[in-house]
Parts: sequence; C-alpha cells; structure tokens
Amino acid sequence: MTRIKMLTPLVEMDGDEMTRILWKTIKEELLLPYIDLNTEYYDLGLEYRNETNDQVTVDSANATLKYGVAVKCATITPNAARVKEYNLKEMWKSPNGTIRAILDGTVFRAPIIVKGIEPCVKNWEKPITLARHAYGDVYKNTEIKVPGAGKAELVFTAEDGTQIREVIHQFSGKGILQGMHNTDDSIESFAKACFNYALDTKQDLWFATKDTISKKYDHTFKDIFEEIYEKEFARRFEESGIEYFYTLIDDAVARVMKAKGGFIWACKNYDGDVMSDMVSSAFGSLAMMTSVLVSPSGVYEYEAAHGTVQRHYYQHLEGKETSTNSVATIFAWSGALRKRGELDQNADLIQFADKLEKSTIATIESGKMTKDLALITSIDKTKVKVLNSKDFIVAVRHTMDSL
Ligand code: NAP
Ligand code: MG
Repeated sequence: MTRIKMLTPLVEMDGDEMTRILWKTIKEELLLPYIDLNTEYYDLGLEYRNETNDQVTVDSANATLKYGVAVKCATITPNAARVKEYNLKEMWKSPNGTIRAILDGTVFRAPIIVKGIEPCVKNWEKPITLARHAYGDVYKNTEIKVPGAGKAELVFTAEDGTQIREVIHQFSGKGILQGMHNTDDSIESFAKACFNYALDTKQDLWFATKDTISKKYDHTFKDIFEEIYEKEFARRFEESGIEYFYTLIDDAVARVMKAKGGFIWACKNYDGDVMSDMVSSAFGSLAMMTSVLVSPSGVYEYEAAHGTVQRHYYQHLEGKETSTNSVATIFAWSGALRKRGELDQNADLIQFADKLEKSTIATIESGKMTKDLALITSIDKTKVKVLNSKDFIVAVRHTMDSL
C-alpha cells in the first residue's frame, strides 16, 4: 500500500506522562502505516523543556506561525511538586500559556459525539462548541483586602499625566476590592477568531455578556463584536447561511439548556472557564473533548482538552495495566491532518482524517471502549468490551482496515 504524502510539515509537539505514551502508540498504529508523516518535531516533554530553558516551547510556537498548523500532546504545567520530581532549574510556565501568548489565540472546545454516550441534557443532539477568550479580566486582576473605613477610587493616569477618576465605594468598615482590565486589541482578536471559526465550521455564533449591568466594560465587548461583524463578516455569514446572535449571558445560559446544539458559544474568559466544564461534563467526559487554538491570522493548534493523566501514568510505571482514553488525542491528530490537507489541497489527507475519526467513533459504538466510557455508556453491558490503552488504539486500526 502506498502511504499518503504530505507537502508541508505539520508542527508536532510531544508531551508528558500517559499522553506521551498514547502519542507514540497512535503514531505507530494509526498514522505511520498510512501516511508518510511529514512533521517538524518539538519535544515539549518537561525534561527537554528544562534542558532548553523552555526555549523549545517558544520555538514550537514560532514554527506554528511559520507553517500554520500544529498538533500538541498534553504537557505538565510545573508546580512545586514537579520542580522536585523533575529536578527543574525553574518552575517553567505553562506551555499552553506561552504558546497562546505567541499565537494570540482563542480556544475552541467541542465534544466528540458517539451513540451510547448520551449527554445529560437530552435535547442536545449536536455538539456545542465553546469559544473562550483567554486573556485578561479576573485572570489578571489586582485585589485589595480593605482593612477598614475609607474611600476606594478607580484611577487611570494617561502618559501625559491627565487622570480619569471614579469613586468605587465609600467603605464604612472592612471589605474587598478588585481591579481588572482588558484591551481592545485582545477583544478584537477574540471576535475575529470566533467569526472566522464560525465560517470555517459553518455554525451559528452566539455571544453573551452582562452589558446591561456593566455598561462600559462588558458593553465594549458587545460593541467590538458588533462593529467587526458588520464591517468584515456580515456578508460572508449571510452567504454561508449562518447567523451571529448576541444576547445577555443569563439568557444565553437558559437558551443553551433548551437548544439542540450545533453552534459556537463565545464566552468571556470567566464564563468560558466555568461553562466549558459544565458543557464537557454534560456531554460525558473530558476525554471526549477536542480543543483547538485559533489565532486571528488563521493559525491552528490542535490538542486534547485533558491533561497528562498522571494517575494512570504512575500505574503504568508500576507495571499495572491502564485503560486511558486516547480519543481526544486521536482527534487532535485528525483535526490537524485535515487542516493541513485543506491548506495544501491534499484530498487524500483530508479523507484519511475523516476515516480515522469515523473508525474511532465506530469502534466505540461497537462496544469496544476504555474504562472511563464503559462506566457511563448506555450500550447494553453484555455488549461492552473494556480495552486497555493500547488495545483500544489497535481496535481502531482494525476498524479502519475493515472500512
Ligand atoms: P488530567 O490529566 O486531565 O486527569 C484528571 C483525571 O481525569 C484523571 O486522573 C482521570 O480520572 C481523568 N482523565 C483525564 N483524561 C483522561 C483520559 N484520557 N482517559 C481516562 N481518564 C482521563 O488532569 P491532572 O491529572 O489533574 O493533571 C495532570 C497533569 O496534566 C498536570 O501536570 C497538569 O499540569 C497537566 N495538564 C495539562 C493540560 C494540557 O496540556 N492541555 C491540561 C490540563 C492539565 P481517573 O483518575 O478517575 O481515572
Ligand atoms: Mg476551569
């Protein structure tokens, strides 16, 4: 059999622990037999990040800017325990944070739907994709614990020294204060990434804030989205038969629960943090969630939404059998290969990506799955076969060869 050729390299970012093991198996079983894999490899495993003073992470992000598409394995974000465990020179920053800062992206997360893993919300027939603004607001805040009576003010000092000053509150006793910000640039990037992604995936876009209460802060988000939509996207949305819909965040939450799905829900940073956990768990499992970072310039980085599955990795190191779900990692590869195929007009590669996803879903629907899914499936228990980490991937290969 001739293997599929790739014109442009795909940026490959390897990672840590259990997902690093899945990564290798996926390549050996599901990719290399079929594709003459052309990747530019970056080892983001914690050991090599430490060895290169994290330069490898920066290099991998720059390579993504150069080539346009990357696929990333889950990586450890070091904390104090990891610094000790890996004898790190420094507590290196989150690779995702570093990559996001360089690509200036928005994160889109969508559940992978299979028959037999039913969403808790029974009217959700199609996936709901969550788009989270990944900059500013409460994630870059400044806080004060107010010790007692006094006046709190919000002050902005321009470069020429002129000031804007607003009273926040006249405290008569102890209390709390919080200051936060966002920038027009970042909100514009967020808006463009959302509109482009909606066009790309031909889905309606919903956006919501609390602009009735936050008349300047949230209202600016609403205005920027509206402006960019009218100026750059309205006509293309019409041509594609999709819609942009703005509402209040509480109204959006109520509508989402009654909706059928099949749209993108753009959220401010905090709303996206909270709502993506709600949406993903209601759809079944974090291991069935894809994640893609899209930059306003149209650069794509695909990954799984979950972490390195540390607990399973330690079991693996003890020589115990694991049943770790590789679906989100397989879909990170298929997503990236499809996008690479689209950009290079490589029909074989696109077809392969479709087939890989179809085979993965068909394998689960036939009752072969990892333990996490076996625990929640509605498939008749007598028809369910729980597979270990490797055997599930091998089963997907058998399905693929039989299609
Ligand atoms: P995690 O890797 O997402 O796993 C948490 C738990 O969720 C697991 O112990 C497992 O539950 C379940 N789970 C997650 N993915 C699974 C899968 N594919 N198959 C089966 N079960 C799965 O989070 P963590 O253990 O808290 O974090 C481990 C490391 O990942 C941390 O160092 C963190 O920094 C990193 N992390 C990286 C990313 C990223 O690179 N995008 C994201 C998040 C976290 P059971 O134990 O009940 O089986
Ligand atoms: Mg969260």
